[in-house]
Amino acid sequence: MGKREVERAQIVCRELKKTIPEPRVELNYSNALELMVATMLAAQSTDVKVNEVTAGLFKKYQCAADYVAVAAEELEEDIRSTGFYRQKAKNIRAAMAILIAEHDGHVPGHMDALLRLPGIGRKSANVILGNIYGVPGIVVDTHVGRVSRRLGLTAETDPVKVEMVLAQLLPVEEWTAFGQRVVLHGRYVCKARKPLCDECVLMPHCDYFASQIEEL
Ligand code: SF4
Repeated sequence: MGKREVERAQIVCRELKKTIPEPRVELNYSNALELMVATMLAAQSTDVKVNEVTAGLFKKYQCAADYVAVAAEELEEDIRSTGFYRQKAKNIRAAMAILIAEHDGHVPGHMDALLRLPGIGRKSANVILGNIYGVPGIVVDTHVGRVSRRLGLTAETDPVKVEMVLAQLLPVEEWTAFGQRVVLHGRYVCKARKPLCDECVLMPHCDYFASQIEEL
């Protein structure tokens, strides 16, 4: 990590603030428990699909105890369309049991405690910490990893390493919003297969775009 990456990160941060002034998670939720479940369901699914499912799910299951009160098969059926529903139901029920046993049924506001919950990785934990508890953290999903590498902020491919690099490049007060902006930028502009470089405000600052031009 050098001066160039620090300056590049500052530019990306500044430019994305203009195009995405108020970044928000696209999962629907009204409390910490709902956001936790939504992030678990989002694995290998889309936010749109998860929102379809949780519209009914969150009416039926309103507290941690509700998820363990039903048979596993019933919860599986209720979340089936998000995919990987057996494993997700298993994780959700195991996580709820821990919440009940150790946290009075509430979602903890610390990284260590969140990472002890089945089905919760650093990405989901950072979503919960940033959006519920105001604890700074950079969400690194597939979009953030890809965009960061294309922009030349890092060459790392491991999400945790990408998170650590970005955390060093940016002031702590920018972490949460930066991550969420880059998620949205990757989802709608810097797409995996066909990045929309012609529409991208980061084009003059992008290694990937420069390399594409060189190849022409
Ligand atoms: S210029 Fe293209 S590759 Fe670079 S960040 Fe923008 S969309 Fe992605």
